[in-house]
Order: sequence, then structure tokens, then C-alpha cells
Amino acid sequence: MATPLPEWRIPLSDLAYGPAEDAGVARVLASRWLSTGPEVAAFEAEFAQMNGTQFALAVSSATAALHLALLSLGVGPGDEVIQPALNFVAAANTTRLCGATPVFADIASVAEPTVTADTVGPLLTARTKAVIVMHYGGTPADMDPLLDLCHSAGVALIEDACHAIGAPYGSASVAQPDGVAGSLGDLGCFSFFSNKNLATGEGGMVITDRRELAERCRLLRSHGMTTMSWDRAQGHAASYDVVASGLNYRMDDLHAALGRAQLAALGENNQIRGALLDRYRSSLAALPGWDVPFARADRPTAAHLAVALAPSALVRAQARDALAAAGIQTSMHYPLVTSFSAFSDVALSLPRSEDFAARALTLPLYPALTPAKQDEVLEALCRVG
Ligand SMILES: *Cc1c(COP(=O)(O)O)cnc(C)c1O
Repeated sequence: MATPLPEWRIPLSDLAYGPAEDAGVARVLASRWLSTGPEVAAFEAEFAQMNGTQFALAVSSATAALHLALLSLGVGPGDEVIQPALNFVAAANTTRLCGATPVFADIASVAEPTVTADTVGPLLTARTKAVIVMHYGGTPADMDPLLDLCHSAGVALIEDACHAIGAPYGSASVAQPDGVAGSLGDLGCFSFFSNKNLATGEGGMVITDRRELAERCRLLRSHGMTTMSWDRAQGHAASYDVVASGLNYRMDDLHAALGRAQLAALGENNQIRGALLDRYRSSLAALPGWDVPFARADRPTAAHLAVALAPSALVRAQARDALAAAGIQTSMHYPLVTSFSAFSDVALSLPRSEDFAARALTLPLYPALTPAKQDEVLEALCRVG
């Protein structure tokens, strides 16, 4: 018997799925081609267009995307990759799997919880091969100074854009944004895990404008083989060679069909998320001692996470308990990478990241969250004070 899913009256996130996702999967099943094929090719083309990049490669996860991004840059033993400790562990893990050393930079402030040129600059050494920036919560980091810094230092900039899919970069008051999160650095990495703004279950994408990096990612995504089975089934290729030791990081057509349906709805869903996030922001601004990152309203965001900063770690714990008792699921994004056993050998102090991680509380946010349910979350928070 299947174990029932834990029931929250208001979950942290929920799928924004409808008939288009059903139709996409049915279309692939009817085609009798399940693995990487025409749906993946169409999804890649549509995703590249949305981001304004030349190349988009669908992969099995953002972890795969990050690993390929690092490998394509030639990151290896002896190299250092500067990155936030306030991040999901995938960037740090894949850095180490390449044989390189993650060097953790502090966030700019609790109001701006990303690494910036100011926090990355002092950590650059002759060994630095790349910098990874993560667009926390869905608001693009301050990219222009980071791009200048990386450019003049001759190091690559990778965007972990998992939170920021479809987020315009620049000021909202400008009609034409400078670009979309993930398309600004050398490579951008995305996740389509179930709780992301574009969800396929498992899945990811790596995008770039640099042909040589795209070709390297494409090769390593599929065993270092020069052709894929779809090409051979189409008669485009009769055989293959293996020209590098690669992996199987491919996406299949079932997931790509889900991704295409989700991509078509992304703009609308991100807008709904943004409106809900604005409501959280204005209500939390009235709660004494509580804070919200990226409060400046003129910065466009994909509104992936609604994060509230409690006045103290104690109040955060009380709020988590009170909300759980009311059937409201919350989370913490993120415990610092440096707090995990596997990274316990890293001795350093990141005071702003530590302060943020001790007080951050992630509240429910998903397109189907109604204002009435959102008010319940806020009322439960108010009662904690
Ligand atoms: C979800 C996420 C990842 C990992 O994505 P997977 O697709 O599960 O590998 C990495 N970084 C960030 C910031 C994420 O939110």
C-alpha cells in the first residue's frame, strides 16, 4: 500500500499543473518515443528563445547542469571556484566532484543575500577558475559589477539560476531589461525539480552563448558520444565514436513535454507569484523586527521563494512551530553549506550568511495560493509577534 503524503493545510509549494501537462505526456506516449528526441529539441529551442541565448541543453537536473558547466570550463584539481555558502549544496558538491575547491564568499547583506563583486573580489587568487552566483529567491544578483570583476580577472561566471527562471535583469522601470537571469554570465543552470517555478519532477537546463562550452556540455551529457540514438533512428547517423569520458545527464521526452507546457505558463505563473510576494512584503513590513530581503520593489523577480527574516533565531523557531501547529508548512533556505559534516573541514567565518541562515523562514508561495490562505499564514505569524 502506498504511504499517504503528509498533509499540510497550506503546503510550502504546489504544482501549477493543468490539462496542457496531461496532453503533453499523452502526446509523447502516443508517439512511442520516450527518450531524448523531438520534444527535448523543441523544449531546448523554446527555452533558449525565452532566455535570449543561443544554446540551451536539457539535462536530468540542475546538479547535472552545474557539473557540466564546471566540466566544460575545464575546472579540475588545483582550481578554486568562488561561490555562496548560502546555497543548495549542489554547486559545492559538483565543484568537489571536479576535484576543485569551493571557496565560500559571504552575502552582501541580509537585505541582499547574494554574493557580489565586493564579497567575491577579495577571494580571487591565481587559482580561481570560476565564480558561481546564485540568484537567491528569484531576484537576480547585482550582475554588472560581478561581470566586470570576472571579465578583468579572466575567470568564468556561472549563474545558478534555479530560483530565477524567467526573471528579467535590470530595473522594472526600464521597458527593455538587460537580459534574463541565467543568460548574463558564461553559463546559466536551471532546475525543474517539483517545487521550482517550472516543474517537471526531475530535470534541468544549461544555457550559454559560447559555442565551445555548449558543444562540450552536449558531448559530456551523453557519454562523450558523437551521436545520440534519436539521430541514428532518424537515419542521420549510422554509428558513433566516443571522444571523451562523459556521463548520462540527458532529459527524456516525457519530461520535456511537461517542461514545454510549464514554460508556456511561466510568465503568468511568475506574475501571480510576484503579486503574492508583494502582499507578503507589505504585510511583513508592518511586523516589528521582521524583515524581507530585496524589499526594493523596482527589482524584477521570479518570486520563487517568500522568505521572511525573523528578529532572532528564537522567534524564527517559535514561528516555525506556530505555523506547523496551524497546518502551515515552512522551510529554511538554506542551512549554510559550511554547516554540513562533509564540509566541516572548511574553517571560515561568514557573519552575514550565518546571521541570515539563523533567521530566515520560507513561507508558502505557489500560484494557487489564495489571498485568503495567505492571510492565514500572516495571521499565524502576527500571533508570534
Ligand atoms: C533546486 C536547486 C538546485 C538543485 O537542483 P536539482 O535539479 O534538484 O539538481 C541547485 N541550486 C539551487 C539554488 C536550487 O534551488
